[in-house]
Amino acid sequence: MAAYNPKSLKAEEFISDEEIRATLAYAEANKNNVALIDEILEKARPQKTATGCVCAGLTHREASVLLACEIPEKIERMYEIAEEIKLAFYGNRIVIFAPLYLSNYCVNGCLYCPYHLKNKHIARKKLTQEEVRAEVIALQDMGHKRLAIEAGEDPVNNPIEYILECIDTIYSVHHKNGDIRRVNVNIAATTVENYRRLKEAGIGTYILFQETYHKESYERLHPTGPKHDYAYHTEAMDRAMEGGIDDVGLGVLFGLELYKYEFAGLLMHAEHLEAVHGVGPHTISVPRVKRADDIDPDEFDNGIDDETFTKLTACIRLAVPYTGMIVSTRESEAVRRKLLRVGISQVSGGSRTSVGGYTTEERPHDTEQFDVSDQRSLDEVVRWLMENNHIPSFCTACYRAGRTGDRFMSLCKSGQILNCCHPNALMTLAEYLEDYASPETKKIGNEMIERELGRIPKEKVREIAAQNIKDIRSSNRRDFRF
Ligand code: SAM
Repeated sequence: MAAYNPKSLKAEEFISDEEIRATLAYAEANKNNVALIDEILEKARPQKTATGCVCAGLTHREASVLLACEIPEKIERMYEIAEEIKLAFYGNRIVIFAPLYLSNYCVNGCLYCPYHLKNKHIARKKLTQEEVRAEVIALQDMGHKRLAIEAGEDPVNNPIEYILECIDTIYSVHHKNGDIRRVNVNIAATTVENYRRLKEAGIGTYILFQETYHKESYERLHPTGPKHDYAYHTEAMDRAMEGGIDDVGLGVLFGLELYKYEFAGLLMHAEHLEAVHGVGPHTISVPRVKRADDIDPDEFDNGIDDETFTKLTACIRLAVPYTGMIVSTRESEAVRRKLLRVGISQVSGGSRTSVGGYTTEERPHDTEQFDVSDQRSLDEVVRWLMENNHIPSFCTACYRAGRTGDRFMSLCKSGQILNCCHPNALMTLAEYLEDYASPETKKIGNEMIERELGRIPKEKVREIAAQNIKDIRSSNRRDFRF
C-alpha cells in the first residue's frame, strides 16, 4: 500500500486511501468531542490583521471532524463562520457564468453520463465554428461575459485543435456591446503540451472534476475509454500546472461514492496542489448527479440530501477559505439560495446543457448532459441575487491583469477586495443593466449600485468607479476595470 505523501506526484500517494480511511475513523471518533470541535471552529474563523483579514483554513482531518459532527448548534456555528469567511474574502459579490457545450461526442464509458459511448439513443452533435459564433452571440445577447466550455472526450471528433479553434472563435465575437472575456475550460485530462496550448489560447480556469477519489469505484464507474485511467485523471492538475495553467478548478460528482470519503479526498487534493505548486485550487465545484437521457440518479446509492449538501459546502468553505466555490443550475433555486449563504461565490445562470442549446427558442433535450433544475433566465437570476443582497458580478479582470494563481490569492488575502473586485463588480453590473436587463431588474440594480459605491473605502477609487459607471450609462464605452 502506498504511503501518504502530499508532495508526491503519484495519485495514490497524495490521495492515499489509507489516510482517508484513518481520517474518517478519526472524525467518527471525535464527532461529539465538543472541545476539539470548538478548537477547530476557532481556528477556521477569519482573524483581523493590520492590512485586512487572514484565515488559517483547516486540514482534511480537522474539516472531516466538523463534517462528521451532528450537533445542531455546532452546525449552525459552521454556517455562521462560513458566511463570515465568504464576506471577508469575497464580499457579497457573486460571479456569473454560463456553460457552453461544444460537442457531446465521447469515447468514454462513464456510467453516470449520458454522453457515454454506448448510448446510441442520444443525438450526437458537434458545433461548427459558425454554430459556435451563433451560440456566443446568443450568450452575449443574454449578457454573459464568462463561459465554461464543455466537451466529451473524443480524440477524433474533439481533438485539442478543435477546442483551440473554438476558443479563438469565442474570443473573436463582439456582437453589439457584447464580449466574452474569460473562457474557462472543462475538457478531459490531457498532456502537458496540450495544457500549454490552452494556456497560450488565453483560457481562464482549467476545470476537471475528479468524479470520485475512490480508486476502485472510479475504475468501476469508468469501465472503458481513456478516462478509465485513475492516475492519469487524478494527476491532470499537476500536468496543467506544469503547462503553465495556475488557475485550476476541482470538483467531485456527489452521489457516486460516500460523501465523507470524497470530502477528505478533495481536501487532500487541494493540500497537494498547495504543497507542490504553492497554490491551491482556484475553484471547487459541488455538482450532484442528476437525471439525464439514459441516466437515473437513483441507481447510485450515495445521494446526499439538501441538509448534508449544505453542511458539506460550508465545511469546504471553512477548510479552503481563499478558493472560489461554484454551484451550477443542476441545483434548484431553493438549494442555491441556501448554498450562497454558506460560501458559494460563483453561479451559472440561464444555462442550457445541450449542444447548440442557446440558439433554439425552446430548451432542447435531445443532446442534453443533465436536467437543469434552475431554469430561470439570466435576468431572473440576476434580479433574484440582488433581491437577496448579492451583487451579480460579470467581472473578468483578474486573469486579464495577470492576477492568477498565488497573485490572485494575495489579492484575496490583502483586504484590497473592496478597492478592486467590488468596484469591478459594480462596473460590470452597470454594463449588464444598461445593455441587457429588463426595466425592473435595471431599477433594482441601479439602486444597488448607488448603495454599494458608498462601500468602496478609497475615495479616489470610488470617484473613478462612479465616473466610469456614468460613462457606461451615457455612452458605448465598456470594459472598465481596476
Ligand atoms: N468530458 C470531460 C471529462 O471527461 O472530464 C468533462 C466535461 S463533462 C461535459 C462535465 C461534467 O459533467 C463531468 O465531469 C461530470 O462530473 C458532470 N456530469 C456528467 N454526467 C452528469 C449527470 N448525470 N449529472 C450531473 N453531472 C454530470
